[in-house]
Amino acid sequence: MSARGAGRADTVIVGGGIAGVALAYYLARGGAEDVVLVERDQLGGASTAASFSGVRQQFSTRLEIELSKRGLRFWKTCAEEFDWPCPFAQTGYLLITSRPETMGRLEQSAELQRELGAGPVQILGPDAVRAVSPWLATEGLAGGAYTPEDGRVTATDGVAALAKGARGLGVEIRQWWPVSGIERGRGGYRVIGALGTLDARRVVVAAGIWSPALLEPLGAQVDVSPLALHYALTAPALAGETVPLTIDFDTGFCVEREGPALAVSMLLSGTPPDYGPQQMLEDWFATAQRLAPTLVDPGISHLLTGQADEVSDGHPNAGRLEDELWVLAGFAGHGVMHGPPVAELLAATMLGSPDPALDLGFCDPLRVPGPVPDNEWMVAQRRYGGGG
Ligand SMILES: Cc1cc2nc3c(=O)[nH]c(=O)nc-3n(C[C@H](O)[C@H](O)[C@H](O)COP(=O)(O)OP(=O)(O)OC[C@H]3O[C@@H](n4cnc5c(N)ncnc54)[C@H](O)[C@@H]3O)c2cc1C
Repeated sequence: MSARGAGRADTVIVGGGIAGVALAYYLARGGAEDVVLVERDQLGGASTAASFSGVRQQFSTRLEIELSKRGLRFWKTCAEEFDWPCPFAQTGYLLITSRPETMGRLEQSAELQRELGAGPVQILGPDAVRAVSPWLATEGLAGGAYTPEDGRVTATDGVAALAKGARGLGVEIRQWWPVSGIERGRGGYRVIGALGTLDARRVVVAAGIWSPALLEPLGAQVDVSPLALHYALTAPALAGETVPLTIDFDTGFCVEREGPALAVSMLLSGTPPDYGPQQMLEDWFATAQRLAPTLVDPGISHLLTGQADEVSDGHPNAGRLEDELWVLAGFAGHGVMHGPPVAELLAATMLGSPDPALDLGFCDPLRVPGPVPDNEWMVAQRRYGGGG
């Protein structure tokens, strides 16, 4: 077998974003042998690289809060576990709202976070919001929820660390190895790529927003769809200030620290097809007049667009589709924080020893979305024109 061409493996993982690379590592750590990961481009180059890489514990369901606790632990111990630089910037995370009813929901979620032992969460009135973020105008604000121990990472640091760990345990990683199709074959599956064909007993599709296209020919429907998020990098701003990753839950208005600069965005789903970075910036400026007037003219250095991975009920997809065909894709825009812990849980399930402390059933890729109370509502993005 040529090192980059055809061959056979026990397990083939398609996709080398944070999810696929984490799964490769946790499978190998759990004793799986003969694991090959194939990635179309370079590792971590798609949604993962575009991410703001915020890591927060503020969610509204038991599942996401537990995943967040585990995700935070992953990122805070990544450097030590892998002997690889993975700096964690403890900037905090601040969710604000002008609506009393949303404030009530944030309070309820904070109660659940406390009950489940997530890190400290503070419910803030307008004055306390201003004390945390003096650049925010708090007139008309109902308040916010603040988690000072949350923060920011660089997602590709984690990808590199996990890849190092996976390779060290014998996983073969092939980059620039695009897969054009997956077929059922004798004794398993056939992964067809531009550079050759890999036969495998077991296949995991971890191809992010491209997963449905790979799975549809096999008759599997997985609920993950692309969500274009536009953002801008500013000139250096708010020198010397800690800037929590700040999201207005009414509008999707978002500000976060990016080196000496800021990244600013409107986190919106359901935008019209012609809604691009310029329109986002116009909406951001209009909202900043009210919420952050001192930032209204920050000087824009870059306009960027990344594709996030929307899921209808806000929960990840991780599990078996049939026989030995599995999927790990669609994190509702939270894959940097939730990808590693979900990959760890999935690896344990695949290796026959599921974690008894956390039921992956909510992540069953074949689930019918449950009743609304079971859905995760604290996703970052707001509905365009729908006002939250
Ligand atoms: C602007 C923005 C901000 C975000 N902010 C945050 C945040 O603050 N916190 C957070 O946790 N998450 C955030 N996210 C979401 C996060 O980036 C994603 O949930 C996460 O990166 C998903 O990882 P993944 O490995 O599933 O997908 P990806 O990173 O997209 O990886 C999938 C990989 O599969 C490969 N692939 C696809 N098709 C094929 C094929 N046919 N053959 C071989 N390989 C293939 C791709 O090249 C890609 O590398 C953000 C996303 C965006 C866009």
